[in-house]
Amino acid sequence: MAIRCRKCGREAAIMMRQHRLALCDEHYLEWFVEQTERTIRMFRMFDRSERVLVAVSGGKDSLSLWDVLLRLGYQADGLYIGLGIDGGIRYSDQSYEKCMRFVEERWPEARLIVVDIQEVYGETIPEVAARTTRGRDKPCAVCGLVKRYVMNRVAYEGGYAALATGHNLDDEVAVLFGNVMNWQAGYMARQGPVLPASRPGFARKVKPFCRFYERETAAYALLRGIDYIYDECPYAEGSTSIAYKEWLAKLEEERPGTKLRFYLGFLKAKEEGLIAFRTDEAELHACEKCGQPTSAPGICAFCRLWERRRPARVIPNPVRISGS
Ligand code: SF4
Ligand SMILES: [Zn+2]
Ligand SMILES: [Zn+2]
Repeated sequence: MAIRCRKCGREAAIMMRQHRLALCDEHYLEWFVEQTERTIRMFRMFDRSERVLVAVSGGKDSLSLWDVLLRLGYQADGLYIGLGIDGGIRYSDQSYEKCMRFVEERWPEARLIVVDIQEVYGETIPEVAARTTRGRDKPCAVCGLVKRYVMNRVAYEGGYAALATGHNLDDEVAVLFGNVMNWQAGYMARQGPVLPASRPGFARKVKPFCRFYERETAAYALLRGIDYIYDECPYAEGSTSIAYKEWLAKLEEERPGTKLRFYLGFLKAKEEGLIAFRTDEAELHACEKCGQPTSAPGICAFCRLWERRRPARVIPNPVRISGS
């Protein structure tokens, strides 16, 4: 027997076992948008008078997030970072094309900021990673550092109230699980739907999709007809977080709602002071080269990456805007 939509009785497009809720396509899209708004309010992320920067990768989560925020009437600009990753599938080119198509076909009035790492700093992520110790085997650590730096800098210098990323519940739970497994108290202290801009130079970071399962964001993208990149970054293969996700999926399969309870329980316990973390904040100073806050002596870790290269064209505001 077909499962019916709880609201209209039509055939359901999705069944969310953890909420015991089945919805048709139309009511699912409505529910998804309402739930995003609820999360934004629940965690006081931003309001309609403020400008938000959405980090977009061409994937389902980030494009769906940008789509929902624009539908809700938020002042949301997109930020795409060109990493220069090919991996035999033209990964970065494809990602860029999806972001551009999203803007051109759906939201032509939206503003997409593009920072191409090779164009601005002279090397792609795999190139810069290959000549560093931390990136020799896999470029992820270098890539993460570069992305965090660029996102923060563009959000902060662009005067955005918040930088929004498309992290979903599965992402957050995998990170939390990893942090618990390794007792990374410092990371746990900083994990949550909102990371305040605690000190000058840092942008506020928010995750409006943190209560959605990955299949829910995928369903939204699919039902909305958003054309996104299906391939994962080729370097993601074999990562610990993917292994954690697989184990957690088994738990969820047997006990629907496990992931949501684990994450929300953690947030609640933190809020109620049941888990206290020492948050010793390192002394910060302005990087001698780029001016961004850093705890490293002299220049920041990002600038150090490009040091051995002939001086890159460090452009004060390394930003290209779509349509300009
Ligand atoms: S998986 Fe790809 S995009 Fe993600 S951090 Fe690694 S290199 Fe960067
Ligand atoms: Zn319905
Ligand atoms: Zn610097």
